[in-house]
Amino acid sequence: MAMTARERIGWIGLGIMGAPMARNLLRAGFPVTVYNRTAEKARPLLEEGAEWAPSPAAAAGRADIVCTCVTGPEDLLQVVLGPEGVVEAARPGLLHIDFSTVSPAAAREAAAALERRGAAFVDAPVTGGQPGAQQATLTIMAGGEARHVERARPVFAAVGREVHHMGPVGAGQTMKLVANLIGGVNLLAACEGLVLGLKAGLDLDRMLAVFEHSTARSVSLTLAGERVRTGDFAPGFSVRNRYKDFVLALDEARRLGVAVPGAALATQLYAAAMAHDLAEADQTALFHIVSQLAGGTGR
Ligand code: NAP
Repeated sequence: MAMTARERIGWIGLGIMGAPMARNLLRAGFPVTVYNRTAEKARPLLEEGAEWAPSPAAAAGRADIVCTCVTGPEDLLQVVLGPEGVVEAARPGLLHIDFSTVSPAAAREAAAALERRGAAFVDAPVTGGQPGAQQATLTIMAGGEARHVERARPVFAAVGREVHHMGPVGAGQTMKLVANLIGGVNLLAACEGLVLGLKAGLDLDRMLAVFEHSTARSVSLTLAGERVRTGDFAPGFSVRNRYKDFVLALDEARRLGVAVPGAALATQLYAAAMAHDLAEADQTALFHIVSQLAGGTGR
């Protein structure tokens, strides 16, 4: 689709996920203009051929499709509705794809503001982590009108592999909150099992080898096991963002009157990790909190 591939991209948010995703769009041949609140982080992409925009509105003004990958609901609403926000450049023909994980309500609020100016919105949260962003193998959960999701597909193909259209605007975010809840509660189980095994004197490498061939196996357990083995807790997905996602899931559960006791407990332990200066560590640093509850494991 050569016509579509020439659509100009505005990219807002060059964090752990956003920077490699914008890079993959450049590599796929899209003209990309970037904006990031902390300007220095844009330098590598500018050296690779991206243009710089001084504000979200400027990035959207020069683009056919503007993409965001920022932190949470307040941040999305700030870059859309705040001073020099995307909405100032919204016009018929502009499509906004939001790859951040935010609340379904924030996605609907951003979409409504853009639609009042004739622009379109698709929520497109992702799963697959930093490696998925780097290798363009993300799974994308999209919400929005089918024609807008179709238009977004060449962009999705440049940053990910699987695309699932879940329903109207907000449905992608709802799916993401559900998937996150499962992954996050799994991670707590992984940390508890690792701590118990270590306290009981089991060898870590042998435990990890068994997990890979047992019904205990999960992505969260593999990630946690590897981090505990190497002692490297540099963020792929930060404790701060994991906590943010649990709070979004609890808000949605409260709105719907659904009991999610495992998620509620995990949220409290992530709050403890934040209070122990682990906010910017990888989510698997939850291991340290569970370990402290057990009096330490020596790791
Ligand atoms: P990150 O490294 O913390 O990056 C966040 C980005 O958003 C940075 O560019 C930051 O700008 C920008 N930002 C935050 N608040 C802003 C505001 N109010 N105004 C303007 N810019 C703002 O986070 P990340 O790991 O890339 O995650 C981004 C999103 O993807 C989050 O919603 C996260 O939940 C989701 N996600 C992450 C992963 C993962 O494994 N990391 C996986 C799936 C989904 P500065 O550079 O100025 O701070």
